[in-house]
Amino acid sequence: MSTGATEARAAELTTNLDAVRRRLAAACRAAGRPADDVELVVVTKFFPASDVRLLAGLGVTDVGENRHQEAEAKAAECADLGLRWHFIGGLQSNKAAAVAAYADVVESVDRRKLLAGLARGAVERGAGEATCLVQVSLDPPDAEGRSGCDPAELDALCAAVAETDGLRLGGLMAVAPLGGDPAAAFAELASYAAQVRSSHPAATVLSAGMSGDLEEAVAAGATHVRVGRAVLGPRPTIQ
Ligand SMILES: *Cc1c(COP(=O)(O)O)cnc(C)c1O
Repeated sequence: MSTGATEARAAELTTNLDAVRRRLAAACRAAGRPADDVELVVVTKFFPASDVRLLAGLGVTDVGENRHQEAEAKAAECADLGLRWHFIGGLQSNKAAAVAAYADVVESVDRRKLLAGLARGAVERGAGEATCLVQVSLDPPDAEGRSGCDPAELDALCAAVAETDGLRLGGLMAVAPLGGDPAAAFAELASYAAQVRSSHPAATVLSAGMSGDLEEAVAAGATHVRVGRAVLGPRPTIQ
């Protein structure tokens, strides 16, 4: 990229990031929470490593990716930046070890079959434990393309993560249903989070809220929001 193009992109990211940080502070204030109570994970999927580098320069510490190959390449390219990488996408069990080899937090743990691979990857990396969030589905049971574990299976899956050597249960992650009321969905999520914390007091992370619904998530107690478009702009339409 030319210097001029890099500067223009840096200015755009600065403006967008400021706006998101202001939204977060306002949402915290409205919820009676300290202004810096919520961690921002910037979702950089579909955007180049050069954007990740600019974001790191603007004080971003956590980035999220949802496709293994893209994430692995970007994490390698940005290894000097000291960022925390969150994997937030659908996981294939044959890729679990490879994901845990670079992801600091795996947010999309939705079935037991992933656990052995994740633990193996964390050990290979030598980073001690991999932090896992269990993704719980807030969709109706018959929803198409549903991701996340069924709420009825949440306790068993959390227990399995907690019992697996090499994995640490950090908490929960969820996505509000498409077209549904995010406030109602996140209230349901908050009740699952309380239920999980009653057995696993250290599982305090609640990752919820994206560009369109971060206010509702903060009101419901989210500790982390995952924001893509509001920082980086619209993604290419081919997904
Ligand atoms: C893409 C994605 C996000 C970010 O969504 P935006 O609407 O771009 O903020 C958050 N969480 C998950 C799981 C995603 O796949």
